[in-house]
Amino acid sequence: MDIKAIDNEYVAHTYARFPVAFVGGQGSALTDDAGREYIDLGTGIAVNVFGAADPIWQEAVTRQIAALPHASNLYYTEPCAKLAQLLCERTGMKKVFFGNSGAEANECAIKAARLWSFTHYGESRKTIVTLKNSFHGRTIATLAATGQDVFHEKFGPFPEGFVYADPTDAQDVIRLIEENNACAVMMEMVQGEGGVYPLTKEFVQTVADYAAAHDVLLIVDEVQTGNGRCGSLYAYMDYGITPDIVSTAKGIGGGLPLGACMLGEKTADLYVPGTHGSTFGGNPVACAGAYSILSRIDDALLAGVKERADYIFAELSGAKGVKSVSGKGLMIGIECEKPAREVIDACLKKGVVVLSAKTKVRLLPALNIPMDQLKKAIAVLKEVIAE
Ligand SMILES: *Cc1c(COP(=O)(O)O)cnc(C)c1O
Repeated sequence: MDIKAIDNEYVAHTYARFPVAFVGGQGSALTDDAGREYIDLGTGIAVNVFGAADPIWQEAVTRQIAALPHASNLYYTEPCAKLAQLLCERTGMKKVFFGNSGAEANECAIKAARLWSFTHYGESRKTIVTLKNSFHGRTIATLAATGQDVFHEKFGPFPEGFVYADPTDAQDVIRLIEENNACAVMMEMVQGEGGVYPLTKEFVQTVADYAAAHDVLLIVDEVQTGNGRCGSLYAYMDYGITPDIVSTAKGIGGGLPLGACMLGEKTADLYVPGTHGSTFGGNPVACAGAYSILSRIDDALLAGVKERADYIFAELSGAKGVKSVSGKGLMIGIECEKPAREVIDACLKKGVVVLSAKTKVRLLPALNIPMDQLKKAIAVLKEVIAE
């Protein structure tokens, strides 16, 4: 069967797919339909936290598939309850809404901020300040929240109430909050799709302090940065701030679709029956798998993330053909002299999977990638970049 030809004929062309069809995987090794092996530094875009087909996750998921794959949110299920409890215990947040994706987690965050502000301040205070160069999803509202014009072309009209601040200037955020009587600020600690740019501590703390002092909600989008990716359970934990709302997805499901919107003190009790919902959100199989992922993101694993990150930064910084290396933990962007696409294509031919973010090559390896595989893959990447 020609997978690529059938896909090209029948699947909407929203992706510039690479000419590879993966059929199997084990940890950080992937296999394509011709039996070729690859070392994976992309993890399906920060999803396969412990690599492909992680046995502990697989066991949790298959056990739940055999017991009860779906019940709907009209009823209680144990995996959903247990996962929400674990998320709250580990973050200090108070309640969790589950959806199926990052965009849905952010939709829930946006609705929660609006609901909170409407409840406390009435209709006039509804604007949310987001950052230029951000990415918050592909639904119409999360596209509106995304501070990049390229995503806005041809899809209007968009919902009102989003303005975009300079991610390097906290005073610009404050100015926009004041000018627009904003109810919330929303940001990624490391702008992922925007090109792997970490915000500075000073910027984040200044905005967080201002928001707290003026009863403006702080929403942190941890869809990509979260779940151990940046070296702490959630990246905000490294910034010394306490967000009011945290959204996450990608890695939390470990390979199944799951999004979570964590609500802090201020917004925890605002949603009541009928105000928000999802048919599949909190699905028992996805939640059982997520519990097995989250419960293993501990200090030992995070120390390993830092060790691997240090290795990659040391290898690539100043290497031939590398202009700059940015990022945090195992979320790394590499600006090369060559176009990113050329580097990615050449790496694929040599059996290494890497991603892009704007003009950069982006690495999002498994948090537990064995050092020997990582060393091999980085050697290939360096060779390709230097050629
Ligand atoms: C990927 C991503 C999203 C969107 O997540 P989906 O699961 O694709 O809807 C939102 N925010 C950030 C920061 C992301 O990286």
